[in-house]
Amino acid sequence: MRTADIRSRFLDFFAARGHTVVPSAPLPTPDPTLLFVNAGMVPFKPYFAGEAPPPWERATSVQKCVRTLDIEEVGRTTRHGSFFQMNGNFSFGDYFKEEAVAYAWELSTSPQAEGGYGLDPARIWVTVHHSDTESRSIWRRVAGLPDERIVDRGDEDNFWSMGVPGPCGPCSELYYDRGPAFGREGGPAVDEDRYMEFWNLVFMQYERGAGPGKSGYPILGELPRRNIDTGMGLERMATLLQGVDNLYEIDETRPVLQRAAELAGVRYGADPEADVRLRVVADHVRTGLMLLADGTAPGNEGRGYVLRRILRRAVRSMRLLGYEDPALAELLPVARDCMAPSYPEVADAYPRIAEQAGAEEDAFRSSLRQGTTVLDTAVARVKESGGRSLPGAQAFLLHDTYGFPIDLTLEMAAEQGVEVDREGFTALMNEQRERARADARARKAGGAVDTTALRTVLDAHGPTDWRAWDTLETES
Ligand code: ATP
Ligand code: MG
Ligand code: MG
Ligand code: MG
Repeated sequence: MRTADIRSRFLDFFAARGHTVVPSAPLPTPDPTLLFVNAGMVPFKPYFAGEAPPPWERATSVQKCVRTLDIEEVGRTTRHGSFFQMNGNFSFGDYFKEEAVAYAWELSTSPQAEGGYGLDPARIWVTVHHSDTESRSIWRRVAGLPDERIVDRGDEDNFWSMGVPGPCGPCSELYYDRGPAFGREGGPAVDEDRYMEFWNLVFMQYERGAGPGKSGYPILGELPRRNIDTGMGLERMATLLQGVDNLYEIDETRPVLQRAAELAGVRYGADPEADVRLRVVADHVRTGLMLLADGTAPGNEGRGYVLRRILRRAVRSMRLLGYEDPALAELLPVARDCMAPSYPEVADAYPRIAEQAGAEEDAFRSSLRQGTTVLDTAVARVKESGGRSLPGAQAFLLHDTYGFPIDLTLEMAAEQGVEVDREGFTALMNEQRERARADARARKAGGAVDTTALRTVLDAHGPTDWRAWDTLETES
């Protein structure tokens, strides 16, 4: 099944069950705690937080997401894209656990001829929060799942909150067993590549107060109106239904990977390191395309810097594959043709996208040239003084001013028989990261979600009892 069909099947299924289809929000979000939308629920946060009345009781969407946290995973796991699409169904004070579970089960397992995805029910595993015995019994009853395939997990994996006072609650995730070729037996707690998570159901049931991290905060009580937020990874479902190894090989990304291999004159599948690079290129070119389409421009901070890193990493990966000519002009049109059927804006904005990407690649190529001169001079100095190692400060300068990733510096230094003081480099990088984190904390502190309205509702409904605290914190 093509990704575009999986997408429309989802929307049709939930529309037929009373959900309003809501278009994807643009990737750059006004949410002050985020750079980009990273989950389907983000545009709905004000409704969940009680800041605005929800316009519908039920909604469904396919939301464009960018997760910067996952960038390092790209190409190395089978399942993390820096850009991906999250299909979701949402209930604002309407249905709750039982229906959410029943819908997810029905759509996942009903035959393709009847509008479902036709996954083999015998290969589906789920996780529940260890305190959430209600969900366990729903999975048994509604899906007929045996207890062995309903796995208990703790707060880290199966408890959701926004990280600020407001709604929170247990989650339940669906996994598909891809079989022994993909890893070890034993369920999702053992191997998350073999057992691929494809859908997460969040049951917003409680209200939490202020406190550190995911746990350790007080649960104030049950929410007066409980909500459902779910996220099904579109590319993950496509990976499963198209029977491919990983999400960079589905119909929306494989053509870019293929073109990159052609340009570089390598064969995908011949060398594991080159394969990772090809997957990085396929992923990053698409992410770059989608970010540019939504109006982010390459720059030196915030959103622009994320985009710059992504585009440069794509170019750099092509270089490492042996292709040194301008690459984006060859690859972006392929990504455009993959994405335009679902996102016509990508085709409309393409001339601008191509121009911005081209300028960014030119700038990177010229930094590379200048950086190479700086590097060569520094290497010559090291050799003259009889040293063997390039100072960390030089590697940091190359990174910070010339946009040289450390692996590029290492490689180019090694070509000339010189090592790099990695410890010194890492120390300087950590200092810089610490500064960035302090900035992010300042931004977050200034922009915590306002839950005044939620509090007003709670006040009106009187104090609630403290059951949640006991169940959540004492069972383990
Ligand atoms: P994982 O544990 O595999 O990293 P997650 O638990 O972080 O996934 P959720 O936050 O629960 O993911 O997001 C909901 C769904 O979105 C997931 O079940 C998955 O199908 C999909 N998803 C999450 N992150 C990615 C990603 N980086 N690329 C593609 N799909 C993703
Ligand atoms: Mg994750
Ligand atoms: Mg997970
Ligand atoms: Mg999850």
